[in-house]
Amino acid sequence: MKPASHVAEGWAREDLEALSAKGLRRVLEPLDSPQGAEVRVGEERLVNFSSNDYLGLAASPAVRAAAASALERYGVGTGASRLVVGDMVPHQRLEARLARFERAEAVRLFNSGYAANTGILPALVGPGDAVFSDALNHASLVDGCRLSRARVVVYPHADVAALTRALDQTPARRKLVVTDSVFSMDGDVAPLRELVAACEAHGAALMVDEAHATGVLGARGAGLCEALGVEARVDLRMGTLSKALGGLGAYVATSRAVADLLVSRARPFVYSTALPAALCAAAECAVDLVEHDPAPRERLWGHIHRFTDGLRALGLPAEPRSAIFPVILGEPSRALDAARCLREAGLLVKAIRPPTVPDGTSRLRFCLSAAHTTGHIDLALEALRRVGVSRGS
Ligand SMILES: *Cc1c(COP(=O)(O)O)cnc(C)c1O
Repeated sequence: MKPASHVAEGWAREDLEALSAKGLRRVLEPLDSPQGAEVRVGEERLVNFSSNDYLGLAASPAVRAAAASALERYGVGTGASRLVVGDMVPHQRLEARLARFERAEAVRLFNSGYAANTGILPALVGPGDAVFSDALNHASLVDGCRLSRARVVVYPHADVAALTRALDQTPARRKLVVTDSVFSMDGDVAPLRELVAACEAHGAALMVDEAHATGVLGARGAGLCEALGVEARVDLRMGTLSKALGGLGAYVATSRAVADLLVSRARPFVYSTALPAALCAAAECAVDLVEHDPAPRERLWGHIHRFTDGLRALGLPAEPRSAIFPVILGEPSRALDAARCLREAGLLVKAIRPPTVPDGTSRLRFCLSAAHTTGHIDLALEALRRVGVSRGS
């Protein structure tokens, strides 16, 4: 008798062949070092331009020490969801610390940004309601919309006029607008002031995903909402602990009532084991560093401006809006070839392909970090010049 595992194996082989034929098969490649400006992959030492560790905190000695000390005191696992017996003092401390950082009434932690987004949306809206979602929102928001079973209206990227028309024309019990603040694959920012105004005019709630803005934007590093002074006018501000904060997990800064509702309703909160205490302690330390030491953020912004100028000098479009710079090349094979050439020059820059980005917009995506030196930034620009990457060439 044929074991059942061979049935799925047949499906997988068929699908893998189709992906390979389109240049869309993805494979893993392990680092043998911490995150940082320079990483080890097998025998190669490469300058890393693909990490979201924007402030170099993933390997920070202070953050490691905070994690190690909590690891000693609380052990590794948390044994259960927070509602059962997994809730520990470090979770509560971190939520209180993040609420101060975000100047919010309350904060609720999640195990990842993906868990937060797929948990929050279904907790707030359902059948009879409508969610208005930017066309370039992160996949976790897309999935949160789907799981909510609310009507989903996708509006053209950053198009507030189109959103306003949709808000006018869509009958629904509750209306919720959701957007990335910094768009993860393009590095541009949402027109947040206009979105806030549109929501206020229509009695709609607004949820902003600050995954790539936390630690990077705003005078204290609290994100685009802080930078634009609209914190108090956004219902839900989601941030991750996994990018600039260097760890793992996510949170939403919101009202006490919403935070309380999420404890009962957000399925990834209710039905998943609590975050390890060591990660909570690491995040608490990282938030202290982000809020009280602006130097790494200033260094990062120095790099952002230097890279912008350098890309423009190469004839590539670039704006200093965030730490993310796409170099759009078109077909997957072009992005893969460019990534291979850069790798030969000692740079790790991953090619980003559909379905992560729309068809025809495969790209190199450079992420800058405070851990880089200006030498690293110049190395990337020089390699791009030698490789001859330019739009449409
Ligand atoms: C990375 C990312 C997430 C997911 O966060 P994780 O903590 O990695 O699960 C959510 N939203 C956006 C915009 C992201 O870029």
